[in-house]
Amino acid sequence: MEYELIRSARRTLSVEVKPDGRIVVRAPLTLSKRRIDRFLLEREEWIEDAQRKYEKRNEALLKIDKLSEKEIRDLKNEARRELTALCEEYADIMGLDYNRVSIRTQRTRWGSCSRDRNLNFNALLMLAPEGARRYVVVHELCHLWEMNHSKRFWDKVSKYCPDWRYERRWLKKNGDALIARLPD
Ligand SMILES: [Zn+2]
Repeated sequence: MEYELIRSARRTLSVEVKPDGRIVVRAPLTLSKRRIDRFLLEREEWIEDAQRKYEKRNEALLKIDKLSEKEIRDLKNEARRELTALCEEYADIMGLDYNRVSIRTQRTRWGSCSRDRNLNFNALLMLAPEGARRYVVVHELCHLWEMNHSKRFWDKVSKYCPDWRYERRWLKKNGDALIARLPD
């Protein structure tokens, strides 16, 4: 079995399967190669299961219909309208002020908030349920108060979006499939 070995000053062994199928093993500095191989052998079935699962998922993602340029343009326009309206709605309720809302298509994030109070959202949010959009808007607006993900931050998110855990999970679970719709 081929794997990447990362040694560090840790006490335990761990194995992780990456979405591209690579196996990454983390081990204490001095643990013998034999012990590591035995550890992996014991977990062979689990590792292969995980690799198969990722392989299936990657195949499914490849089959997803890509968005055309026109569809992306339409999504951006829709997003500009709807997300700007949501920002206004929540900023009003929360008693906050922001500068500008911009819309992009991105592969790595749903939204962001800068120190100069500009908000940025991913147009692909328009392919997600409305609740997820509301959650991302509330999340970024809360960053105007707290530029971190501390307990205080999540308490504020809970106040304005009580279902945030559910929406966040939805995005984690389905986000890759939405992002896969962007042309390469
Ligand atoms: Zn955040």
